[in-house]
Amino acid sequence: MFVHVAPASGIDVCVVGSANLDLVATTARIPQPGETVLGDHFAEHAGGKGLNQAVASARSGARTAFVGALGSDRAGEYLHQVLTDDRIDTSRLTIVDRPTGRALIVVDGNGENSIVVVPGANSAVSTPQDLPNATVVLVQLEIPIDVVEAVLRTARRNSGITVLNPAPAAELPASLIGVCDVIIPNEHEVELLGGAGALLAAGCGTVVVTRGGAGVDVITRDGTVHVPAFDVDPVDTTGAGDAFCGSLAARLAAGDNLNQAVRWAAAAGALATTVRGAVPAQPTAVAIRSLLGMT
Ligand code: ADP
Repeated sequence: MFVHVAPASGIDVCVVGSANLDLVATTARIPQPGETVLGDHFAEHAGGKGLNQAVASARSGARTAFVGALGSDRAGEYLHQVLTDDRIDTSRLTIVDRPTGRALIVVDGNGENSIVVVPGANSAVSTPQDLPNATVVLVQLEIPIDVVEAVLRTARRNSGITVLNPAPAAELPASLIGVCDVIIPNEHEVELLGGAGALLAAGCGTVVVTRGGAGVDVITRDGTVHVPAFDVDPVDTTGAGDAFCGSLAARLAAGDNLNQAVRWAAAAGALATTVRGAVPAQPTAVAIRSLLGMT
């Protein structure tokens, strides 16, 4: 289905997207406006869909580059370290004059949460002049939408496979949908986008709808193939969607066909639900192979 081109850049997957420092407080009850409550636990984690998906791609074995923006602050230094720990190419990461993106997350005793995202540096991500000539280019919607579209257009000109994870949910111009080989929405996002049929009609090649524990639908003009979810005991579903997208991109770059890549990604998504957090939960190729019975 896709023409597999070995990139001159040595990059299999280029992720262009967001990086955040997540500040997570747990408390018995989420405070009302004007109220102060005492929390019982606090933690900081690397996050942002772009960073999470880059880590997922790298752990699935792809030579991965991350293109995004960080502030010149402690959070930016930490996120840079997280990326390099997974051997992700950060040579096109820019340092901008805004604070590193942060998400302030309050989780209550029932697991309900309340989140404020301050995009900061992520809103200063600009269209890269030197987008690496990667086999797969993967983007999400936590950076300016004109940059998302420009990146997809450049990737297509370079004969890269273009993959969009339309999260967080937002309406998309038809011109952007038309330059996507693969769009990966979850069940809420696909509804907001008018259904898989509307995305195909606007020129997207394949729509991969993720449905949590109910598995995945792969939808093309030829019909729908359902891929069941793997049976695991989830403890935290944060990061499952990112594991799915990043690992799918890695396997497409390795030359898998879409159905093979989706099975790999479904295994990665399932494993991600068995570990808390987003970055720590991203599974390695060894763990994915073992769940797939490939060892
Ligand atoms: P998002 O986090 O973007 O809403 P999903 O919840 O649909 O994404 O999860 C992405 C993929 O991860 C699913 O399609 C599935 O393959 C896997 N996954 C998620 N939750 C589970 C689960 N409870 N059991 C098994 N696999 C899961």
